[in-house]
Amino acid sequence: MNKATRKTIIAGNWKMNMTPSEAAVAVKETAELVKGKNGCEVVLCVPYVDIATAVAAAAGTNVKIGAENVHFEAKGAYTGEISASMLTECGVEYVIVGHSERRQYFGETDKTVNLRTKAALNAGLKVILCLGEVLEERQAGITEEIVSMQTKLDLAGIPAEQMKNVIIAYEPVWAIGTGLTATPEQAEEVCAIIRGVIAKLYGEEIAEATTIQYGGSMNDANAAELLAKKNVDGGLIGGASLVPAKFAKIVDAAQA
Ligand code: PEP
Repeated sequence: MNKATRKTIIAGNWKMNMTPSEAAVAVKETAELVKGKNGCEVVLCVPYVDIATAVAAAAGTNVKIGAENVHFEAKGAYTGEISASMLTECGVEYVIVGHSERRQYFGETDKTVNLRTKAALNAGLKVILCLGEVLEERQAGITEEIVSMQTKLDLAGIPAEQMKNVIIAYEPVWAIGTGLTATPEQAEEVCAIIRGVIAKLYGEEIAEATTIQYGGSMNDANAAELLAKKNVDGGLIGGASLVPAKFAKIVDAAQA
């Protein structure tokens, strides 16, 4: 099995940007630009309050809507949180879990990332599970250890049959929103390491079938060479996903 057999996924992460009305316009514009570009799955992960207008705007197009987080409990006294079944009922298909901004600013740990992933998968969502090293870890030469540990902890207890709904996003934290991009070689090296860990956990077949994205200042200028790498099966895109024309060019780069 090789890259040609894996699903390439280009996903936007809008973060805390776009009001509901702005979201409707941006989704429609993006959908128009990526119409018929079926060489990859196109996903926009949007703030919770944008989900309704985004889902409505994406109806009948090849753009899928995702959320940016999900709580691990099904319901209860968790003020301000959103459950997986709330998302699915709203038409959400994907959810980002473990984004570095959640880990950095909101106390997310590998334990809670694992719980959120399980809750989302059990509700039928596809999970874009983010992991990656911080700058000090890369400089200390421990990137492999860090991403291997995160992969193992974040996937702990997730059964093999649910791995078809898990997408890993390798996001070196030093490259997110900084304008610094991992070189294609760095992205390839770490995506291959993650695939190797998945192979040890679940076997070669599942590892080869798992989509592993790169994320970190991917844009219309650098996407093609990153996506050309054997183990890079798509991108998770922050800043550039807010501009439909730029995002659509990244989708174009994924058509090859
Ligand atoms: C992200 O938010 O996951 C991301 C990669 O952001 P940016 O593309 O802006 O670096």
